[in-house]
Amino acid sequence: MTAHIAANLAAVRSEIARAAAAAGRDSGEVRLIAVSKFFPAEAVSAARNAGQRLFGESKAQELEQKAAALPDDLEWHFIGHLQRNKAAMVLRRAAWIHSVDSPKLLERLDRLAGELGRRPNILLEVNLAGEPDKTGVSWDELPELAAAAARAANLHWAGLMGMAAEEAGEAAGRACFARLRESRDELARRHGVALPELSMGMSGDFAWAIAEGATMVRVGGAIFGQRVYD
Ligand SMILES: *Cc1c(COP(=O)(O)O)cnc(C)c1O
Repeated sequence: MTAHIAANLAAVRSEIARAAAAAGRDSGEVRLIAVSKFFPAEAVSAARNAGQRLFGESKAQELEQKAAALPDDLEWHFIGHLQRNKAAMVLRRAAWIHSVDSPKLLERLDRLAGELGRRPNILLEVNLAGEPDKTGVSWDELPELAAAAARAANLHWAGLMGMAAEEAGEAAGRACFARLRESRDELARRHGVALPELSMGMSGDFAWAIAEGATMVRVGGAIFGQRVYD
């Protein structure tokens, strides 16, 4: 059941290297987050045996269960919509939270991180294509959220995250990613902070995201296979 995972991982890694080289970038600048949501701990284990250490989960409970069941040499990235009442659970397990999408969530994470003695890395999630059913702040709301992130004492604000519209095609997808990069550059200048990370690109579009400067790609299906939602 997990035999395909090592081969898929190798294929994704070589596609990342190819895309980075084509963009004149070092492939070491691009981290692969293997998105294991909806797949069991055995699938994560198979990927770990193939050398993968960074994993992404989108639900607090599922992250908790897998992190507890697996060796602690894995680095967990939380990438889903985070309810405020699950924030502490996620803070205990995740080194990175990619999906901070409101000032209230940010405030709560900052306070809890202080109480727990943690300083997680966070990214602010932007709804790149303005799709109403998608998570992330709008471009209009981003400046306020960014100002709050710059003030948060217990969070390390490292950059931005976003998803291109599904089926957007190369030109529209790349335009979305380029806008996220430009916005990151602008916010880094305005707040005088280093914002090195751009989390963008999934199974269908990570090569385009790398061409536009992605430093983290979040890839699920191309590694683990088709997810079955129940
Ligand atoms: C599920 C998910 C991914 C991975 O998507 P694939 O198309 O399976 O690669 C990436 N980012 C987020 C935020 C997700 O929820």
